[in-house]
Amino acid sequence: MNTRILDNIISLFYPRLCAACGNALQQHEQEICLPCMLHLPETNYHLDHDNPLREIFAGRVKVEEVAALMFYKKGNRVQHILHHLKYNGKKEIGAYLGEYYGKKLKEEARFQDIDGIIPIPLHPKKLRKRGYNQSEWIANGLACGMGREVWTDVLVRTQFTDTQTRKSRFSRWENVKDVFCVQHPEKIEGKHLLVCDDVLTTGATMEAAIQQLESVNGVRVSVVTLATAHN
Ligand SMILES: [Zn+2]
Repeated sequence: MNTRILDNIISLFYPRLCAACGNALQQHEQEICLPCMLHLPETNYHLDHDNPLREIFAGRVKVEEVAALMFYKKGNRVQHILHHLKYNGKKEIGAYLGEYYGKKLKEEARFQDIDGIIPIPLHPKKLRKRGYNQSEWIANGLACGMGREVWTDVLVRTQFTDTQTRKSRFSRWENVKDVFCVQHPEKIEGKHLLVCDDVLTTGATMEAAIQQLESVNGVRVSVVTLATAHN
């Protein structure tokens, strides 16, 4: 039996579903169906140096470029995508959308001198529970689309933080300020780094990471995420 027929039979019993709308995927579709890809609420912030995401870091930490692929809203397709990526084991979505975004970033002059991509590390406890770091999967996708390397041995977690959902920005900052440290600083000296994560909200986690990275001589940092609520 050829593999295509076998695939069809398997998909009769275990249809692969679109992470955004839940409809069955066609054979040629990966992770997200074509209609959903065509209607992704993209920000296009990577085309605009002075986009609203810059305000998140203003007066806090220096960033070269900051961008996010999609707008996140309660109940929209992006929320479904992120949920599958983080809580349903669908790590491949991170790689898929990361590559999709990486190809777009590669076309933009302001992202072309990126030397390496750094995912926000997950604490070992969470990593054990989830089995993977979604940011690392996004980073791998970005790297593939941009033709760059992922560096996972530079930025590391030092302590566990409790869930941050219901805390003010200040206490959130108190919570995250010491959680990262840099290993192998010589590897990133003078480099332009692209730090990536799944969502950009208050920027507190990202700020803590950037502060550590920029303590290394000559490091410049740009930030991209798959989603943001800021518009
Ligand atoms: Zn869909």
